[in-house]
Amino acid sequence: MPSPFSYSEYEQIIHHLQATSTILDYSKVNQDTNEFCVIRHDVEFSVERAHDLAIFEKHQLNLTSSYLFQLRNNCYNICSDINIGKMHDILALGHSVGLHLHFGLLEDESQLIDYILQEVELFQKLTGIKTDRFSYHRPTASALKQYHQIEGLINCYSDIYFNYFESCPENLPVKYYTDSRHIWQHGHPLTNTDKKIQLLTHPYSWTQEGLNNFDNFSELLQEKHRLMKQSINNEISTFPVQLLR
Ligand SMILES: [Zn+2]
Repeated sequence: MPSPFSYSEYEQIIHHLQATSTILDYSKVNQDTNEFCVIRHDVEFSVERAHDLAIFEKHQLNLTSSYLFQLRNNCYNICSDINIGKMHDILALGHSVGLHLHFGLLEDESQLIDYILQEVELFQKLTGIKTDRFSYHRPTASALKQYHQIEGLINCYSDIYFNYFESCPENLPVKYYTDSRHIWQHGHPLTNTDKKIQLLTHPYSWTQEGLNNFDNFSELLQEKHRLMKQSINNEISTFPVQLLR
């Protein structure tokens, strides 16, 4: 058995979902689609890990999916030239790129649709990427229950792909697998028998070798530390070389 949260486990999951359902892009699914598995990756802390997973999906699994990035995350900068380059790489691999919407600057939830439209427009201006899709970051129950439909945009939480639930019921019309918090709290996709599925992963949770929650965050912090040192060193000649080690 591959280690949990390793790339080999991810490969097994994809093969199992291909055997039990049909992997499709969100844009190919409508109310009449009887069998689908839509796959999205919400990018929380590491554009680098999202980029790595996107390459693995395309080159090893011949799979394309959706990568959704935050504008308001304090752990990465979506506007940096390096990150914009990585997002364009992901697009060039054939994946879709979109917005993972943070509710932080939303003052009044009755304004949610306007907020989504503004954030999508800003995302497009800042990245140069035209997108047709978004997902919510840590959404409220009321936002989920409204299944907002917006012309020209795919809401990954619209009722074609998702059914709101409070505790995890059996027999939802669409089965929802998510690795949030490094746990498959609504069931493991390797046990899937459903035909209508949404799979959500968070690329920061996935590594080649597969790490437990503690080791994963520990490794992630080291990666970010190395990147921060390189980034500062690239901008200023006085950065002490001994700190680069
Ligand atoms: Zn999120």
